[in-house]
Amino acid sequence: MLTDRPSDLLRGFIIVDEGRYVGVGAVLGLLQAANEANRLGSAQLARMAHYDALTDLPNRVLFHKELSEALARARRRDEMLAVLCVDLDHFKTVNDTLGHPVGDALLQVAGKRLLGCVREGDTIARLGGDEFAIVQTGLDDLSGAARLADRIVEAVSHPFDVMGHQVVIGASVGIAAAPSDGDSGDELLKKADMALYRVKGEGRGGFHFFERAMDDRVQTRRALELDLRHALVAGEFELYYQPLFSLGAERVQGCEALLRWRHPARGLVSPADFIPLAEEIGLIVPLGEWVLRQACAEATAWPEHVRLAVNLSPAQFRSRHLVQTVVSALSASGLSPHRLELEITESVLLQDNAANMAVLHSIRDLGVRISMDDFGTGYSSLSYLRSFPFDKIKIDQTFIRDLPHDADALAIVRAVTGLGASLGIDTTAEGVETAEQLAELRTHGCREIQGYFISPPVPAADIAAMLGVAPAARDGGEVTALPPPAGQTSVGPGDLDVVSVSGGSTAARLQV
Ligand code: C2E
Ligand code: MG
Ligand code: MG
Repeated sequence: MLTDRPSDLLRGFIIVDEGRYVGVGAVLGLLQAANEANRLGSAQLARMAHYDALTDLPNRVLFHKELSEALARARRRDEMLAVLCVDLDHFKTVNDTLGHPVGDALLQVAGKRLLGCVREGDTIARLGGDEFAIVQTGLDDLSGAARLADRIVEAVSHPFDVMGHQVVIGASVGIAAAPSDGDSGDELLKKADMALYRVKGEGRGGFHFFERAMDDRVQTRRALELDLRHALVAGEFELYYQPLFSLGAERVQGCEALLRWRHPARGLVSPADFIPLAEEIGLIVPLGEWVLRQACAEATAWPEHVRLAVNLSPAQFRSRHLVQTVVSALSASGLSPHRLELEITESVLLQDNAANMAVLHSIRDLGVRISMDDFGTGYSSLSYLRSFPFDKIKIDQTFIRDLPHDADALAIVRAVTGLGASLGIDTTAEGVETAEQLAELRTHGCREIQGYFISPPVPAADIAAMLGVAPAARDGGEVTALPPPAGQTSVGPGDLDVVSVSGGSTAARLQV
């Protein structure tokens, strides 16, 4: 307890223990010790707040502080300054394959090598992960920054001995300079990072200065991202359909739904230009659901023997609601499950294999067919064919393009159709553009073709006309067909009954 004598209180906190006073000196000693510990503690705290515990280099907080001070100095002295963003190439692989302790040790040694590249007065920091940044001061021109970047790339390219492992990595460096690229720390870091991004895109192991065009590209992408987020609500998406023509039944027995974005300023945008971005920003999940619902609704108007094919993105498998979405799209439209084919690519089986496989089995159990799209462009196609009972293999158009003259393409087509036949899986050739290609495919037992030779993808109303039915009620406005690519032979709406599909010696009439 504390004494309540006013005189003792004046001396400070004097503790009495069972009526005995504890000496004032002892109390002061305790207080001093506590103060000292406190002082040491705050020095340590200050260090922790400004330095990276692993490499002992300045951290992001101190880097920003040093950078703004260096910028102020450079302005006063009318000097140039460079910010270099350094990324260790293949660091993630080392971490994943040799484990985190080796990764950590590698970061420590790499940090020391980087430190050996800079001059006194420059700041080098670890911003996080395998990302380092440097402020280089006192520059007369940019050649000094290029020389430093060169030294870094060279220094990091030598093998590292880490915990008994010899590790070979590399470094990519992006550079932005003040005052030419900006005068705030944030802006310079952002631009150095854009330059770094470019180095990585060009194969890593080098350096690049920031260029205006990089910023423009990023701005364009950001604008596209905003537009894309808005497009679904604004109803700017629509579906085109491309016929799948059976080489046995000699008629259209399916149509593939292909997404189009009618951008108010850019016009019709092709999926190759926006699907990767939609996947990246997660929009593909609601968008894919819209495609499925819309396509199922439109396909109900088609003749019973015409199936609907819909593409699925790997990202839709990650959402975990895919089976429910398929069930709901089928029941809302009334389309029979056996008329639906879902097209996946090998990447679906590459990522999170067991979970995705379970989803695929659940969908197939509904009676829906599963096709392997773009076959031949992935990694280990053959093992994937054994791992799931696919109903159809779609041979990628890159192999069809070179038919009938390219011997390698021919060998691949022959092998895949043979494999399909022996595994009991149908084969479809994508991108068939000429009668010669068709004849070749027929010879090798291909079951189905798709391509401009039959028809390019066309709006829903046109496919309905081709199939001789009235289109289903749609929620979009009027649409027009994409102009067919130059020089292609194609079938226009309503023309299917008059165009002959020549298979070389045998000519068959297109029927629906
Ligand atoms: P895919 O599923 O392999 O679709 C076939 C692509 O080949 C389509 O391109 C089609 O227009 C094009 N094509 C068809 N016949 C020919 C031909 O004879 N010659 C040539 N050169 N090309 C032909 P599109 O419509 O630009 O679609 C590209 C890709 O975008 C599709 O490839 C598919 O992977 C993806 N995609 C399209 N719609 C969707 C969608 O709703 N969801 C998802 N996840 N992906 C989609
Ligand atoms: Mg497809
Ligand atoms: Mg394909």
